[in-house]
Amino acid sequence: MQFRQVLGQEDIKHYLREVVEKDRIPHALIFLGASGYGTLPMAMAFAQYVMCEDRQAGDSCGRCRHCYKSAKRIHPDIHYTFPTIGSKSTSAEFSSDWRSFLEQNMYAEVFDWFNRIGGDNRQGNITKDECLRLLKALSMKTFEGEFKVQILWMPEFLGREGNRLLKLIEEPPDNTLFILVGQQQEEILNTITSRCQLVPFKPLDEKVLRKHLIENFPRLKGEEVDQISVLAKGDLNIAIDLAEQKEGIAANIWLEWMRIAYKGNGVEMVSWSDRFNRLDREAQKNFFRYGLYFFREMILYQLYPEHQILLMEKESLAMRKLSNLIELRSIQEAIELANDSIFHLERNGNARIVMLDNSIQLNKILRGKIPTGNRFTKKQKS
Ligand SMILES: [Zn+2]
Repeated sequence: MQFRQVLGQEDIKHYLREVVEKDRIPHALIFLGASGYGTLPMAMAFAQYVMCEDRQAGDSCGRCRHCYKSAKRIHPDIHYTFPTIGSKSTSAEFSSDWRSFLEQNMYAEVFDWFNRIGGDNRQGNITKDECLRLLKALSMKTFEGEFKVQILWMPEFLGREGNRLLKLIEEPPDNTLFILVGQQQEEILNTITSRCQLVPFKPLDEKVLRKHLIENFPRLKGEEVDQISVLAKGDLNIAIDLAEQKEGIAANIWLEWMRIAYKGNGVEMVSWSDRFNRLDREAQKNFFRYGLYFFREMILYQLYPEHQILLMEKESLAMRKLSNLIELRSIQEAIELANDSIFHLERNGNARIVMLDNSIQLNKILRGKIPTGNRFTKKQKS
């Protein structure tokens, strides 16, 4: 990974080049921000930059043996630690999954990672055994160059085990660079963050997202590219989800579902649920994520009629019509419904049951049969 392959974030690249040039590399850094802002790719690009034998024009060369091995993620002096499933597991046992995961999308979310290794967030952790493995690896001599780099993804999953690393972070062996890559500062042990140089990431610029969308989703119309770039709020993952919806099926079938749920015909709802069940898991989640946007726009439209609606024309028209039928508090219920559905789908809930239940609930919401404050969603599903 070279800096130029990392989207945007020019300020941070500038800072990282500068600490290397001035020979002032902090021994421990923590990159903070949403995965979709590019924290992990930046950590990998920085590790490669530090290792490179022939840095040029503010970037690693991309050709020397260090660059070659860094890019293939087989450099013996670049160590990766990340959350895994199982109380005694270590990152080493998951290294081939990890490599192919990164090959697919280096901006991916921790949820996607757990999906890949067959678990969920609640089971994920960075274990005591992994901390011990890490300490051992960093205590050894370097294999190939001057530096050792440890990239630790999602320190949020360290728990108290993290305290084993404090001494290492505070007094690291010579030429050791520790890069932690996290999302929420408040969920990381204070004892750790206080010993690291914080590097907060900002959302990606709209123009960076726009360029990426144009290059990667050539079928999107200009107007769609603009709207997605705004809706994504600087998060590449959201932008990709939305773009896939536009090129794919989610936005189209969303309105169809609204119609079916409004009518409330049982046979139609069952056959709809069967169809939904045949979509792949990502498409199913995207469907509900799109729904969240749709309802969010509806709330804004009701509260601030002058708000510029960030929906495509057809969806915008449907939203405004529907908005006459549905009260604010019912939209809240619908949002909760969509959030719960994503929650269950992420935990491998049965998509057919999730969808059928949703159709029935949404029908009640649209028909105004849900009394205020009736919490109905957390029971039957999955
Ligand atoms: Zn190089």
